[in-house]
Order: sequence, then C-alpha cells, then structure tokens
Amino acid sequence: MDILFSTELQSLYENRVTNLDKQQLIPEDIIAIVDELSSRDMVNKTVIGHSFSGQALNCLTLGFGPKTVVMWTQMHGDESTATAAVLDVIHLLSAELVTSINADWQSLLTIHIIPMLNPDGAQVGTRENAQGIDINRDAMALQTPEGRALDTLVTKTQPHFAFNLHDQHDYYRCGTDGKSSTLAFLAPAFNSKKTIDPARQKAMALIAELQLQAKPFLPDNIARYDDEYSARSFGDKIAERGISTILIESGHYPNDPNRQVARSMNVFTLLHALDMLCDEASWTDDKTIKELEERYWQIPENREYQLCDLLIKNLGFANNSFTTDIAVRKYDRFEKSFFVADIGDLHEHYGLETIEASGYLYDPGRSYLLSEEICLTNESYISLLKSGFSHFVGDPLLIDNHSDYTVIENPKYWHDDLKMMKGVIPAGFLCKHGERKFAFIMGELVAL
Ligand SMILES: [Zn+2]
Repeated sequence: MDILFSTELQSLYENRVTNLDKQQLIPEDIIAIVDELSSRDMVNKTVIGHSFSGQALNCLTLGFGPKTVVMWTQMHGDESTATAAVLDVIHLLSAELVTSINADWQSLLTIHIIPMLNPDGAQVGTRENAQGIDINRDAMALQTPEGRALDTLVTKTQPHFAFNLHDQHDYYRCGTDGKSSTLAFLAPAFNSKKTIDPARQKAMALIAELQLQAKPFLPDNIARYDDEYSARSFGDKIAERGISTILIESGHYPNDPNRQVARSMNVFTLLHALDMLCDEASWTDDKTIKELEERYWQIPENREYQLCDLLIKNLGFANNSFTTDIAVRKYDRFEKSFFVADIGDLHEHYGLETIEASGYLYDPGRSYLLSEEICLTNESYISLLKSGFSHFVGDPLLIDNHSDYTVIENPKYWHDDLKMMKGVIPAGFLCKHGERKFAFIMGELVAL
C-alpha cells in the first residue's frame, strides 16, 4: 500500500474490516460481517428481496436524516472491490472511527447500502445472475428479482443521491500517459442527447470535488468514465428520475491484484461524498457548481484496451526481416493464462510491464513430446527451455510440475513459421547472437 501517506487514509485502512482482502468475495465471506454490523445500534438490516436462487438481498441502513442516499455493489457478481469498501464504510461509521464527516451526519442523512446485489453471480464468479442475465441491462425489462429489488428500493426511498459501484477490467488506462485507471467516475447521461439537468450537474460537481480530494493519493489514476447513454442500465435509468447518480468503477493498481488500493480509495471517496451531502449548500451555489462542472470535464478520460500486461516492443521476426510489437494479456482478471492480444505498431499502447526488444529475434521453439512422466524442477525446466523446448504436447497428466513457472501444454494454435499470431498463448524465445536469452512463459519473460 505505497499510496497511503495521510493519517486519515492510514487510519481508514488500518481499521478496515478484516478477511476481505480477496480478489473475489462470495456470500459466505460477508454474511457474518453483515450480521455483526446489523447488530450494532446505528445499523438496521432489511431484506429487500431474494436472488433468483433464493439468497437474501440485504440492505443496511444508517442515519435517519431527510437526505436519502442509496448505494449498491456487486450487481456484477465478479466485481467485489466495492463490497469490501461499503462494509468498511458501515463499520467505520457505526464504530465512530471517522473523523472527516460532519458530526451530525445521522440526523442529516439516511443511507441505504446493498452490499452484493448479485449473490448468485458472486457465488460462482460470473458477471450475470443465476438466470444468466446481466442485471445492469435489466433496468427496463425488470426480469431479474435482483433488478426488481433495486428498482423497488429506489422507488420507495426516492433517494437524492445514488452510488452505483462496480469493477472494471485491468486494461483501462487513465488519460493518455499509460497509467492504470484505479478509480473511474461517471455522472451518467439519462438520454442520448446527454442533457445536463440540475441533478446530473450536482453529481458532476460532487465527482469533481472527490477527485480533487483523492488526487494527492492517486495523482495519475483517477479517470472519467465514458458517458455513452444506455437505456437498459440502472445508473442511466435512475439518473432519468432526477436522482444525482454517481458510478464508481474500481480498477487496477500496480502490484495490487486484490485491489486494496481501489478499496481504500472507495472508502475515502464515499466518506467524503457523504460529508459533502451533509452540507450541500457549501458547494451548490451557482458559481461553485459551475466551476466544479468544468473541472469534471477536465478529469482524464478512462480509455479502454490500450493497456496490456506485457508489451514487447520492436521484436525481430523471420530472420530479422521485420520488427513489430506484441501485446500480451490475460483472458480475464482472475485467470492465469495469457494470450497474444495484438501484434503490429503498438506505439500508442502501454504495458503494465514493457520490454524494449530491439536487437532480439523471436524463435517459437520446439514441442516437447510427452511419452512418460516428467518431473519439473526450476532447474530441469530451465534446462529444457535452454535446449529450445517452449511447450509440451501430449497427456498433461504426465507432467509433475514442482517449478515456480507455468507450463504451456498443448497450445491451441501452435505454429512453426517463425511469426506469432493473435490469440495464441505466447511461447518461444527472444534470441540474440544466436543464443536464447529469454523464454516466454505465459505472461512472463524469464531470463535464461
Ligand atoms: Zn460492473
């Protein structure tokens, strides 16, 4: 957690809920925590519905003030960062550990939080619910019980502010300089003309102020999400009702696979947002809100798909008759297998790791034919790589892998024509002066 250098942020992080430092949260991870939190004086639990397979959809309510706020997380089952964050927020508020919020917040705000709107999807790690439907494309059709529960809560409570909390994939970048987008905000459009009504302007102003406050900790990693209108999506649909709606997408931060940086920054921004809602008059006068709206548009854009895990630049192919760039990515955030996502002039792309390969020549290597059991240690595996075997072909059960590296078994589109192809598992070698200097092992380049 190298970003934490303020005492406030440090204290929020140290007092977070334990056992939630995971890539994927399932209902079992949070049930006991939700029960413990709802046993506290300040917190009330309501079951607002049941998932398609019958799991309770819990809503935790804090405060009894006139201004109403609704937050929901993990409507996409495989997006759990904000679930940990909202449980932290509930814990910190109800244990009176937050110093940065208006002391009267309970009499000013009523906050309804649904941690994990899609428990069925969370259980199996899918975006969709147990019907196979993306709940966030069900705002009009309302065919999912989870979508209906959210819709009913919004209708019943008529919130002034709604926080729609998601995760985005690792390859969004912030603006143009190749930094990961760790937090992306959006005040969604509610029609295709992208009209800015007073409620949307308020959401924009709130976001601009939150970005300012979070910027010292995340100077290069806060982006503004694309405001393409989508009538089927809840954020857009809720914004249409005149509710100030804020989307927050948690994203990648270097060396932080469990997204604890995004989690902490969610906690920080949500608490600051709640504090701002306690005293709206201080930032909604005509002049301030106009300035903040302008500032909102200056937040760097969230750009999709120009990042990759490993970018290899200027690698030579076919006896150095040409050079080109290779982008390697994971199939998805939770997978360990990688593929060649792009080949060609990738000078506008960025790698989470970048290798300058001028002077190196690509060699795809040979197949190792499995005929009997083979035990791999770091030493024996490296020695196979050194002798030119880049992957294994045959019965993978014959491999007893004790090495620290992944093994490439029966690659799907194997090729031996000295070029690489989009979609293949990256295997092979980088050679210089006729010697194999590095081996591709999935997303890694290993020095030989
Ligand atoms: Zn999502």
